[in-house]
Amino acid sequence: MERYYTLAEGCPYASNSTSVQVRGGGGGLGLLQDTQLIETLAHFARERIPERVVHAKAAGAYGDFTVTNDCSDITSASFLNQVGKTTPVLLRISTVGPEAGSADTARDVHGWAMKLYTDEGNLDWVFNNTPVFFIRDPIKFPSLNRSHKRNPQTHLPDPNMFWDFHVGNPEGFHELLHLFSDRGTPASLRHMNAYSGHTYKFTTKDGSFKYVKIHIKTTLGIRNLTKEESTQLGGENPDFLIQDLFEAIEQGNYPVWNVYVQVMDPSQAEKYRWNIFDMTKVWPHEDFPLRKIGKLTMNRNPQNYFTDIEQAAFSPSTLVPGIAPSADPVLQARLFSYPDAARYRLGVNYQQLPTNAAKAPVYCPFQRDGLMNFSNNYGADPNYVGSSLQPTKFYQEVKGIGPSALSTLTEHEQWVGQVCSFQSHITDEDFVQPTALWEVLGKEPGHQERVFGNVAIHLRQVKSSRLRHAVYDLFSRIAPDLGAGVQKATEALVSS
Ligand code: NDP
Repeated sequence: MERYYTLAEGCPYASNSTSVQVRGGGGGLGLLQDTQLIETLAHFARERIPERVVHAKAAGAYGDFTVTNDCSDITSASFLNQVGKTTPVLLRISTVGPEAGSADTARDVHGWAMKLYTDEGNLDWVFNNTPVFFIRDPIKFPSLNRSHKRNPQTHLPDPNMFWDFHVGNPEGFHELLHLFSDRGTPASLRHMNAYSGHTYKFTTKDGSFKYVKIHIKTTLGIRNLTKEESTQLGGENPDFLIQDLFEAIEQGNYPVWNVYVQVMDPSQAEKYRWNIFDMTKVWPHEDFPLRKIGKLTMNRNPQNYFTDIEQAAFSPSTLVPGIAPSADPVLQARLFSYPDAARYRLGVNYQQLPTNAAKAPVYCPFQRDGLMNFSNNYGADPNYVGSSLQPTKFYQEVKGIGPSALSTLTEHEQWVGQVCSFQSHITDEDFVQPTALWEVLGKEPGHQERVFGNVAIHLRQVKSSRLRHAVYDLFSRIAPDLGAGVQKATEALVSS
């Protein structure tokens, strides 16, 4: 049937552009009975939902993940267990600190949130475009982000706060070097990598597991902007990266990434030089080479940005059998805080929204009611566990498999320890991997010099000479020439 205009509750209406008025003397008085006017105005005032406190500005697209290499020896995840098997994906790529209206070419870490709608439920990979992070104790997460956002008095982004935080928490200097390298300003989201950062576990039906880190690498080659280009684009087209991704997909120019894992046996973790639960560290490729498992192709734009992308909610706790979290304390905290943020931003039934709803069957009758529940709410089914009147069936019974197949529920390991604060003090070991990165950058002509300039235009705004010198000292712990180069470039700008 042809579509015709109605009010929100279906009442056909003759006009959508005239309010009802009692007219006289050239003016008009509104009437409470003008439901169209009242609903139009009331709904407009409520169009915005809370902006994400981090990762507000983003592009998004749909696509497919396809298994390219057998990895059934390391995971029982159903979506990974057959070469050629394809799983639909939603991807949202964001900057972190700035607001939704900010320039997406600004220097920032980029978030990479991916929802794989697998045949055993949704799997979210909530990654970044850098392999490490600024902190390794989750208590610091709000402070880190506030220091990258606006000053509480001036309401301005504030390099004084930014560098003050990082000098006080120098475990982040590895990530800072990534941020102020060319990769801090990607030229295109299609030409960018993503990394799990955290260690995860791949689990198998026999109850064993491997530690893994996941790498998603563009097949198009890395491309970055210079600081001059990113500044210019920030003024001329603050949505440059969103536009680039949308138009490429619209033109059938689909970006493709290869997906790899680094795989570590738990026995290796015990003796390894690096704490694999410390998010400020990578596993060097030499120790743990990449193993290809699949490829990702983004091939469909959202139909509606709000319903598809803005209402999307991602969480590292959204896992499927065969993949499990590790004991990384930052990951453990994110398992709580991401769904918590979604409940606040979208409401307690956010998992029912079309973009978040699993494509696999969902039967979760002990999660019911709540604001904006628009499911059938499980009808008359028992809303308590242990019913003999209508016993709950479990996956392993229906499929005829053992309970250990649901490996996220299986005890793989036993932990014995003391209750303590996670050690976040700094040692020389914390500067070893940043030094390796500094050497990697040194292999590209001019890259190290660009880092000096990238830091200098930001750090020059720090008023305190003591604070600036503390930054030089920390960069010098990575490499004396890095500290000296940053100092020279910054102080030249300060005194100019
Ligand atoms: P490798 O020499 O084996 O690897 C260095 C890696 O650095 C490359 O594989 C590449 O990763 C990445 N890289 C290359 N150019 C740049 C750049 N301009 N900016 C940022 N990263 C770049 O050495 P290691 O594995 O021992 O790592 C050395 C350092 O490289 C690490 O301390 C870390 O900072 C950085 N790195 C390491 C990664 C890892 O997981 N081991 C991943 C990414 C960076 P890619 O192919 O993923 O682009």
